[in-house]
Formats: sequence, structure tokens, C-alpha cells
Amino acid sequence: MSNYALPTTNYSLATSDALFTRAKHHIPGGVNSPVRAFRAVGGHPVFMQSAKGAWLTDVDGNRYLDFINSWGPMILGHAPEVVLQAVQAAIQNSLSFGAPTQREVEMAELIKQMVPSIEKVRLVNSGTEATMSAIRVARGYTGRSKILKFEGCYHGHGDSFLIAAGSGALTLGTPDSPGVTAGVAQDTLTVPYNNLPALEQALAANEGQVAALILEPVVGNMGLVAPQEGYLPALRDLCTRYGIVLIFDEVMTGFRLARGGAQELYGIRPDMTTLGKIIGGGMPVGAYGGRQDIMDNVAPAGKVYQAGTLSGNPIATAAGIAQLTYLQQHPELYDELNRITTRIADGTRQICQELGLNYTVNQVGSMFSVFFTSQPVTDLESAKTSDTEAFGRYFRAMLHRGIYLAPAQYEALFVSTAMTDDLVDLYLTACRESMREAHG
Ligand SMILES: *Cc1c(COP(=O)(O)O)cnc(C)c1O
Repeated sequence: MSNYALPTTNYSLATSDALFTRAKHHIPGGVNSPVRAFRAVGGHPVFMQSAKGAWLTDVDGNRYLDFINSWGPMILGHAPEVVLQAVQAAIQNSLSFGAPTQREVEMAELIKQMVPSIEKVRLVNSGTEATMSAIRVARGYTGRSKILKFEGCYHGHGDSFLIAAGSGALTLGTPDSPGVTAGVAQDTLTVPYNNLPALEQALAANEGQVAALILEPVVGNMGLVAPQEGYLPALRDLCTRYGIVLIFDEVMTGFRLARGGAQELYGIRPDMTTLGKIIGGGMPVGAYGGRQDIMDNVAPAGKVYQAGTLSGNPIATAAGIAQLTYLQQHPELYDELNRITTRIADGTRQICQELGLNYTVNQVGSMFSVFFTSQPVTDLESAKTSDTEAFGRYFRAMLHRGIYLAPAQYEALFVSTAMTDDLVDLYLTACRESMREAHG
């Protein structure tokens, strides 16, 4: 605990604030991805300087215990030696060729070993590219137009996925974002997560029209929400029955909930899988893959076009192979991640109870969320019963104690292998004080 500098006294964000003021003149909202702005919690974003292991250091020299871990990729903590060394070795040989390399073959072999439902795989540069490409392939393969997604699931910023929750599967989707056309929205059906009757109704009403059903098998993007018992097997059966391509979007859960992701944890074989985040070890990488008969529709093997100047980039694959190989060779780390995250979740639950706050803490493996509501959270509607004002106060209180949480209620938190029991104790101390302060 000696290395823990509580930044409560003399806590200054002067350099961050100055950078944010400059950034706002040049970058929309001052950030290159909206989740980084602190709009949901108040205050200004913290600009980071460096990180090692479980700790972040900002541009003002404050240190934070990190529960974002770059929104998932840093499962081994920040700047792990195995990944840094692989990148350092790779950069000597040029940063890009635009021609095939050995590492792309090795990366494909590694992904297939770890995620056996993937028979062929294509590398891209982000999770968004992976999901956009996957539904194009599913449409090309089935000759159908519609896709079905679940309210509160996030699949990147592709037009088809930015469709308002709550519109119901039987009515037409309406765009969530200006710039998404009504035409595109019409082809996206949405139903509530963990609700089989709603799904069955939507599929029956659209028989022969749905190309793909895409979901986060464990949802991280409305806060952490687990699939109910029997839900994923039922989805698998429905997709088989209706000839629909089942796509597991494991951009967040892949290589995190198990070496083979949520599909390994729950024993379900999807037709296609999308990957991102951990797969690049912190570099911009995504991937989509699945059944060979589906993937062979992708150009140049087939007619569904998808391409990328920097796809399979030699530095990105060096980082990805290093991180994935480490995970593959250390299966025991998943048990340890689970143990330590369970301690965090149980400890948080207990603190809330002591303070008379009956909050819901959801956890699966190394992902968790503290929902500021006493209702069980199983879908978007129940997640939205959370007291986001109180969450904002809690977030700021934690930040001032050197705990860096996601700056929004509806996000999952991520634990890395750099988390130790001593650090959990620090977190729990800060949690107790901050919960008190937020409800004072
Ligand atoms: C982060 C995320 C994406 C988008 O990935 P980007 O790399 O941000 O484009 C897609 N799906 C899920 C489940 C994600 O968590």
C-alpha cells in the first residue's frame, strides 16, 4: 500500500484541463471517442501520460488504479514486457507492407486454436469493422436483408447497429443517430435482451427475411448483464431452425471470459464470431470469422467484398500474437482473474449493504458493473432504473481517491492480471468512502 498516493490533497488536473480546452477547439467535443468525455458524470476528461501494470499516470502526475484497461484490451495490465518486446522486435522490419506476412498466418492459426468455432478468419482494424463486415457476409451468404440485434447491445458505430432501443421488433427500427437513413434502419430489428418470447415473435413475424442475429453473449455495453440460464442455447436453436446466421460479438468477451471467450464459457457454437480489443494487445485490430462455408463468401474467395490497406498490419499482429500466446499458455490466469474480480464484486456488494444501499453488482469473470439500483439488472430497461446522478457523484469521489472507473453507469469495468489482493483492499477502502460521500 506504500506506493499508493491518494491524490485527495493537492489534487490538480490543471494540465488536463488546459489540454481539454485546447482539444475542444480542434476535435469535436475534445475527444476522439465519445465515451472518453465525462459528460455522463460531470467534470473534464483526464489526459493520460503513461501506464504500467494496474496503474495509470496522468499529465499532472496523478496516479490511478485502472478499471478501464483501455476498455478491455489490457488484460495483462499496461505495458506487459512480452507484448512490448514483440512490438520492439517487429518495428525494425518496417511498419507496413500491404502484402502478406508470416505473422498473419500464425495469428489466424492461433485464433482458430483458441476459438474452435472459427474455421476461417479475416483480420481487420477495429471491432466496428469486424461487425460491419460480419453482417455483410451473413447477408451475402443467406441472400436476406434484415438483421436482428438486442436493445442495449453495442456493436460499434456501423449504421445498421445505431438503431433506437425500445422500438420493438415488430415495428420498424428508427435511427438512433442523425445520419443513419430510414432505409438502413428498416433492416434492423431490435428486441429486449434475455426475453425469449419477444425474440420468437420477431423471428416468426419476419420468417425468411432475417440474415443474422447478432449479440454480445455476455453484454458489457449496458453495464455488465449476463445471459439467463438457457437463453444462449435457445438462441442457438432458433437460429438453426430459421436458417439465421448466429453471430457472437465477442469484441469485449473474446479471450477475456475464457481463452475461447463466452462461447467456451457457455458451451455454445455460433456460426460467426467478431473479435477486437484483447486481440490486438492495445493495437488497432479486429477480426471476424466462423464456419468455412460462410467465410468462403469473402473476397477474393467469394463475392462479398471487404478489404483493408492496413489489415493484418505487422506491428499489430506482433502485439496480438504476443498477448494471445501468453493467454493461451497460461490458462490458470483465468481462474485467478475470476477469483480476484469476485472479491471485488462481493466486497462492493457488502459495502453497499452496510450503507443501506441495496445496489446490484453484476459480475462474470473479470468483468463487473455496480448498478445504482436495487432491481436485478437483466436488460436495458432494468439497467435504466439506475440513479445516474448518484453514480456521477460516486465516480468523481473515486477519481479523487485515485480509482479510475468508466465515466458512465452503463459500462462494464475490466480487471487485469496486474490486480493484486493489496490493490483490491485499496479499491474497497476508496469504494466505502466514495459510496458514503455520494450519498452523504
Ligand atoms: C468495443 C466494441 C465494439 C466496437 O469495437 P471498436 O474497436 O471500438 O470499433 C463492438 N462490439 C462490442 C461488443 C464492443 O464492446
